Amino acid sequence: MAEKTLNPFKIAQQQLKEACDALGEDEAVYRLLSEPERVLEVTIPVKMDNGKVETFKGYRVQHNDAPGPVKGGIRFHQNVTEDEVKALATWMTFKCGVMGLPYGGAKGGIIVDPSELSIGELERLSRGYVRAIAPIIGERRDIPAPDVNTNGQTMAWMVDEYSHLRGVGQTLPAAFTGKPVEFGGCLARKEATGYGVALMAREAAKFRGLDIKDLKVAVQGFGNVGSYTAMYLQELGATVVAVSDVSCCLANQNGLDIKAIMAYAAKNKTISGFGGEAEELNRNDIFSQPCDVFAPCALENAVISENVDKIQAGIICEGANGPTTPEAEKVLLEKGVFIVPDILANAGGVTVSYFEWVQNLHNYYWNFNEVQEKQEIKMVDAFEKVINMMQEHHVDMRKAAYMLSIKSLAMPMKLRGWF
Ligand code: GLU
Repeated sequence: MAEKTLNPFKIAQQQLKEACDALGEDEAVYRLLSEPERVLEVTIPVKMDNGKVETFKGYRVQHNDAPGPVKGGIRFHQNVTEDEVKALATWMTFKCGVMGLPYGGAKGGIIVDPSELSIGELERLSRGYVRAIAPIIGERRDIPAPDVNTNGQTMAWMVDEYSHLRGVGQTLPAAFTGKPVEFGGCLARKEATGYGVALMAREAAKFRGLDIKDLKVAVQGFGNVGSYTAMYLQELGATVVAVSDVSCCLANQNGLDIKAIMAYAAKNKTISGFGGEAEELNRNDIFSQPCDVFAPCALENAVISENVDKIQAGIICEGANGPTTPEAEKVLLEKGVFIVPDILANAGGVTVSYFEWVQNLHNYYWNFNEVQEKQEIKMVDAFEKVINMMQEHHVDMRKAAYMLSIKSLAMPMKLRGWF
């Protein structure tokens, strides 16, 4: 069956509705959570290197601030739409809820292909975006972070700009997370999302009576999330048999050398041409590689009706936000595939962002192992809570994660007198 819709916001609303119904929640809870509290659209003028001014469209969406300040990344991508940012903000609320973090969800995006901009143009765009959204962000209000095509450098420019605007001679590092370690960042933050995906794959394997060490893994997407997911899965003992990016799929049933591919990608901005023992295939061949665990770590709508039958894995661990459409998910669940949903599987990023924020507010910093240990405790605990919900209500893991989250969100909304 083809997809009813590929609109991620419609999909997020549908997931929410099903979970509210399964919980028998007050209708007001669904209404409060089905639309964002605030949507800001901005136009950012940027002086380009050729002296001309270009304008870029951007968004910041704040979904729900009942639990505390809102939080979520900023993406730079040519396909950003208002509805996509609304969906991503909604998913952030549920992600923070599953993890028990004191945040609601938000997200930002700029419609731009960053590969077409020089470093100076990117800096001016980042600063312009901060000037545009400054009235609604802040360390106690809305704390952005990196997402697709943004990184520590982007956050450093943004903190600098924001501090000039608001700090009046002060530095305000807690207003953004995912900063470079040398500038108020947190050790193990860069690695955190991928590390978390690997941990959740390990827990899923354990739940199924398997040992991650005996399993073959394929990872779609080789950006920050995909590369560290592959690296940590290999460190946990799995055999990573395939990885892909926009250019190609690299495959070897005996296992790939992930650290070497990461070094190659850092230098060449692509994994294509890596050579060695890896066979270079079409990027869509990633879906049909024989494996036990499949980790989609790129963008929304990766696993769809058209390719779902090719997937051979018994476990899917979602590193991306919204990578599986509801129609594809139905097919997978009927086949008995175990899906660790995005709002749990990729929650490592925001979890360590929370640690970064806490450290910024206290101006006291933890070491790498301390951060990873705390991340592991929080994520394994959330995994167990979702499993308990799943078993208690006889639902799949995504619905259970939503249900857990909705329960934790309903309370502060009720206590605040919103319904
Ligand atoms: N962009 C990441 C996400 O989708 C991290 C957000 C954050 O750290 O606030 O979860």
